[in-house]
Amino acid sequence: MSKDKIGFIGVGNMGGPMALNMVAAGHQLVVHDIRPDALKPFGNKIEIAASPAEVASAAEVVMVSLPRPEIVQNVVLGRDGITSGTRRRIFVDLSTTGPRLARAVAEELKKEDVVALDAPVSGGVAGAVKGTVAVMLSGPKPAADIVTPLLASIGKVFYVGAEPGMGQTMKLINNLLSATAQAATAEAIVMGAKFGLDPKLMIEVLNAGTGRNTATEAKFPNDILPRRFKGGFALGLMVKDLKLALETAENLHVPMWIGQTVKELWLYAEGRGGPDQDSTELIKHLEAWTGVTVAEKQP
Ligand code: NAD
Repeated sequence: MSKDKIGFIGVGNMGGPMALNMVAAGHQLVVHDIRPDALKPFGNKIEIAASPAEVASAAEVVMVSLPRPEIVQNVVLGRDGITSGTRRRIFVDLSTTGPRLARAVAEELKKEDVVALDAPVSGGVAGAVKGTVAVMLSGPKPAADIVTPLLASIGKVFYVGAEPGMGQTMKLINNLLSATAQAATAEAIVMGAKFGLDPKLMIEVLNAGTGRNTATEAKFPNDILPRRFKGGFALGLMVKDLKLALETAENLHVPMWIGQTVKELWLYAEGRGGPDQDSTELIKHLEAWTGVTVAEKQP
């Protein structure tokens, strides 16, 4: 299988570096993206396809890393979609699209003799570049075993179960916690800054104590304190993940008092600044309420 071409659709912030890591590991890729710019970093190392159908006529394994569930649905089942290809045998969704879509797509693809696997990833753009994302793989084991060595070139693969949607649900749990940690940390740090504490020192103290989380360890030092705001994960995509997480909880009759509040805060930020803000910009909306700016003090 590793000598076969691998199809890859959607080479943006995450898909781009993940696909580059697959190329670096020796896999031959046939790639499609609607943005010509997204294909530039590959030079002549890949084959370019004009449509998802063309990708799926060149490769048995077709992976996608696309922004939203409706886009994935269209790329798989729509006109010139993956199902119109002639070779496709295994479909792998690396995007975060939720369990409802994963189940629906798996059911439709089954009719076409294609096995669907969820393989959403966590680790951000930095993890995608380093090849260290956590891959949450689910779906029929024989197909999962075929793609595991391919996915090993982008990070650590966790097989989480045989049912479609299990990988997606695992990923939503991860992002619900990540969004909660970032929101709570932003609130707390804004309070400290308003009191007069030094933001950089607060982050150092938290990272030596029990308040530490992915926001204090990475987002604050890398993007928020230097006012860089270039984490590479769009705020609108975080809102999408929170909506999917809350929808999943609701369908299971699992109460989410904390999750609801966290979603409201992120929705508010999206309403104020739009979906294309970097997700690290959430704090700006809390700063606006209080009149403080959380930044490294100038020496
Ligand atoms: P992105 O917007 O940077 O990349 C998406 C790519 O898909 C773009 O290059 C875009 O041109 C392309 N695309 C859009 N519609 C298309 C279509 N119809 N056909 C072909 N190509 C199309 O998004 P991203 O940040 O790379 O996120 C991709 C997925 O991964 C999302 O589901 C996101 O939630 C998830 N994710 C993102 C991160 C992150 O840190 N950015 C981390 C983990 C998971």
